[in-house]
Amino acid sequence: MYEAIIVGAGFGGMGAAIALKRMKIDNILILEREDGLGGTWHVNRYPGLAVDIASVTYSYSFEPNPYWSRMYAPGPELKKYAERVAAKYDLRRHMRFNTAVEQAIWDEKAQVWNVHLATGEVLVARYLFTATGFLSQPKVPDIPGIETFAGKVIHSAKWDDTYELRGRKAALIGTGATAVQLVPEVAKLVSELTVYQRTPIWVVPKVDGPIPKPVQFAFAHVPFAQKAARLANSAYLEALMVVGVLHYKQARATNKGAELLARAHLRNQVPDPELRRKLTPQYSFGCKRPTFSNEYYPTFSKRHVTLETTSIDHIEPDGIVTVDGRKSQIDTLILCTGFDLWDANFPAFEIVGRQGRNLGKWWRENRFQAYEGVTIPYFPNFISLNSPYSYNGLSYFWTIEMQMKHMARLFGAMRKRRVKTFEVKQLPNDEFLDRMTEKLDSSVFYRGDCSGANSYYFNQHGEAALLRPTPTASGLWEAGRFPIDDYAYS
Ligand SMILES: Cc1cc2nc3c(=O)[nH]c(=O)nc-3n(C[C@H](O)[C@H](O)[C@H](O)COP(=O)(O)OP(=O)(O)OC[C@H]3O[C@@H](n4cnc5c(N)ncnc54)[C@H](O)[C@@H]3O)c2cc1C
Repeated sequence: MYEAIIVGAGFGGMGAAIALKRMKIDNILILEREDGLGGTWHVNRYPGLAVDIASVTYSYSFEPNPYWSRMYAPGPELKKYAERVAAKYDLRRHMRFNTAVEQAIWDEKAQVWNVHLATGEVLVARYLFTATGFLSQPKVPDIPGIETFAGKVIHSAKWDDTYELRGRKAALIGTGATAVQLVPEVAKLVSELTVYQRTPIWVVPKVDGPIPKPVQFAFAHVPFAQKAARLANSAYLEALMVVGVLHYKQARATNKGAELLARAHLRNQVPDPELRRKLTPQYSFGCKRPTFSNEYYPTFSKRHVTLETTSIDHIEPDGIVTVDGRKSQIDTLILCTGFDLWDANFPAFEIVGRQGRNLGKWWRENRFQAYEGVTIPYFPNFISLNSPYSYNGLSYFWTIEMQMKHMARLFGAMRKRRVKTFEVKQLPNDEFLDRMTEKLDSSVFYRGDCSGANSYYFNQHGEAALLRPTPTASGLWEAGRFPIDDYAYS
């Protein structure tokens, strides 16, 4: 039997393992369906892949990396960083790759989790952690005829490095954060590129560039230099992506300022008014995750690149036909259609708690909810890291670190009481959900105009249940100070 099983070997699962090891819990197993660690940064390999939060902020605060090559590090550096952290905290020996989890069932009598693998094997653990990611289940669009396409189909999350793009006639479907990175890179290689856009994205200027050696030296040797850069960058992002979005009612001017910045960026980069109109979102800034780029907009002014805003009707073996009957002939189809959050994730596999409560069913029949974004009534000894209301829109590392803090307080309370089982009580859970619901009423999701945003922040019931609508500092504060009696121990 394991003391803890963690599902997912991304930065979330690794953070949970580090937190457990700090509490001297070492009998841990990390299960990962891929063949390596790093989650997002192991799976995604498309050209142009980079962080969209500056690297000083997109990293563990307790494991700064002074040697990021650029302000926004390219994807492979994140994969290397994950490897380095895993080596330092001796996490690799706990990891089992190529192992998909299909189900976990709470055994009430034995007070343990039975974790069922795709191979049929059943493992037993006292504590279960899911760190299966939000953006981890690629979505393939349900376009009629897509299966008949005779050319090459590539999803951005399943990039094929061996496929030569040079000289191809390509189509790219989707204009979210991934497309913003990928479109300029694909355009450099192919002979023709048509980008199919359903919903435009707000793009703000990217203050990026190589980090000079003397700055790297200062980050490595001058005390607090990198910490100060992290705090400054986090404060900027907090204003742009948290205050202006989640506290829209109180800080409408901040949101308006961000929108004006994005509009000015578009005006500066796209001279053609008709193209500009097509690229301008019709929804409020922040309804959908905004992104940073200086290369995306200018790509559409290139002669071999076309922005197509007419809806796709169907796909034929050699091309895409829009609803007005026009066909563009292609040999390569690139899908930047994102990830399925609300149907395939939440949770990523079947989880059955006390009295047979099925988490996926219960979330869908009631409302998506998790106390402090980590625990759920009727699910003892279970921490769900990718929960509703867990992520506040800033760097994901702030979220992981809040959750690590929550774990430390909770496990500390159990140790003091000499008990091994915890379960969040119904009332604190309900109060947390009520508080989040009330606070979300001030957000751009309900006060702005998000009708045309088509955003993964909203679930299948039209509820914006993903983001935690509180400032980062207050989330951190609560993680270290939530009332211990919000949990029942046995
Ligand atoms: C292209 C891209 C760029 C991003 N850039 C940023 C950014 O700049 N800033 C930011 O804050 N966030 C960014 N994100 C979000 C990013 O996912 C998080 O920052 C962070 O990496 C999430 O870590 P995680 O461990 O929670 O999930 P993931 O990294 O998604 O890891 C989850 C792991 O769980 C595994 N898994 C899932 N289901 C199962 C199962 N049933 N059995 C076994 N294993 C399973 C998956 O294979 C995966 O390895 C980006 C996401 C993408 C896709």
